[in-house]
Amino acid sequence: MKIVMKFGGTSVADGKRIRHVASLAARFSRGNQLVVVCSAMGDVTDQLISLTEDARSGSEKAVEARLAAIRESHLAALKEAVKSPEVAAKVRRKLTETLAQLGQLARGSTILRELTPRSRDGILSSGERLSNPIVWGALLDQGVDSVYLTGGECGIMTDDNFGDAAPLMEVTGYQVKENLGRIMGEGKTPVVTGYIGATQGGEMTTFGRGGSDLTATVIASSIGADEVWIWSDVDGLMTADPKTVPDARVLSEVSYAEAGEMAVFGAKALHPRTLEPVAEKGIPVRFRNTFKPDHPGTVVRRDPKAYAKNIVKSVALVKGVAIITLTGASMVGRPGSAARIFDVVAKSGTNILMISQSVSESNISMVVNRSTMHRAVNALELMMLGPGGLKQVNYEDDVSAVAVVGGGMRGAKGIAARVFGAVAASGINVRMIAQGSSEQNISFVVHEGDAKDAVRAVHRAFHLEKLNSS
Ligand code: ASP
Ligand code: MG
Repeated sequence: MKIVMKFGGTSVADGKRIRHVASLAARFSRGNQLVVVCSAMGDVTDQLISLTEDARSGSEKAVEARLAAIRESHLAALKEAVKSPEVAAKVRRKLTETLAQLGQLARGSTILRELTPRSRDGILSSGERLSNPIVWGALLDQGVDSVYLTGGECGIMTDDNFGDAAPLMEVTGYQVKENLGRIMGEGKTPVVTGYIGATQGGEMTTFGRGGSDLTATVIASSIGADEVWIWSDVDGLMTADPKTVPDARVLSEVSYAEAGEMAVFGAKALHPRTLEPVAEKGIPVRFRNTFKPDHPGTVVRRDPKAYAKNIVKSVALVKGVAIITLTGASMVGRPGSAARIFDVVAKSGTNILMISQSVSESNISMVVNRSTMHRAVNALELMMLGPGGLKQVNYEDDVSAVAVVGGGMRGAKGIAARVFGAVAASGINVRMIAQGSSEQNISFVVHEGDAKDAVRAVHRAFHLEKLNSS
């Protein structure tokens, strides 16, 4: 089989783990053709983000301290992960080159106290350009003939939307197939940096946080892989967060649409665009635990067969949200009032998670992240001063959202009754409800003190704790 394997930050957090990752890749490379994609080590991307902030405020000392820490941790990982002196020397040359570029960018920005989006991506992309060469070395060390490439060298071409770049699939597909095909044709395993692409002019770009998953699926779609395996530190996608629901279960199979909904609301954040490139081609994506390699994990595929009788598959808790409610009698029957409201909210830089409007049209409620709520409320209050019939803006910031996900909800009757019956039986008041027209998700908002009980009540109502046991 042709498999693209992506290892997340915790899987490559230090030298010992990198050796383990290399041994997994070595094991699965027997009989399969692999492409390995890795994230930055541990929380290195967070460190690089702090570095950009220190640079922008001109804190020379802080910048030097961070550069030194990043250098130290990677050299220590190299020492631990790669035993052969010849291989270690090759990897060290790569690291030295990347560290020098990183130092130049960081010091330049510190002097100028300014950071362009382009330089920022140059800095943020360093994490993957430091971790992947070490993985490459560890593979060589364990006898797997491999080749290290950045996303750009691999052929991933993006637009120039630095920090949130989108791959240009047409060219990318062609180039990646060509480049990796040649390497794999020689029996070698490519090791490609996650998270990174390049513009047509060769400038380094990044896909936004968690973007290594997207790298893996873009490559899989380009080379026509049989499967993508995403290795992290959890067993797979679950019926609920086990911290909230101790008897939550690992789902063995879900559809792309379900995984997409879970990615938006679930505890384990998947890059939102991860599944697009593979869903189109029906390439299955497997979620597996690096530290329990024999656990089967979860597979995301087009037509999952398991759980045909399970209408609901997962219940997620979304914390840190707020409801904004707009009231105004003259919104009634006025086309365009909703559009104007959402436009104002969008321009305030606030992302909307849920929307609901009563049929009387006299109020609209929306759920947003609590951290951006005040921006939206301020913008709406300004709007209220103008024409448009908006009378009042209220907010509640002591709430959480619960998202109930399952493809089987589509067309099934009585699901909402079961969900809200269970919530009511626990004595919990529901403040707002929304269902997407995909009918694969029912979301509702409760007081944050009730949220965990609401999740448990719904989980129990659909017997999710018994999943896999019959
Ligand atoms: N290193 C990047 C991040 O932490 C990309 C990734 O891990 O997928 O967001
Ligand atoms: Mg990461």
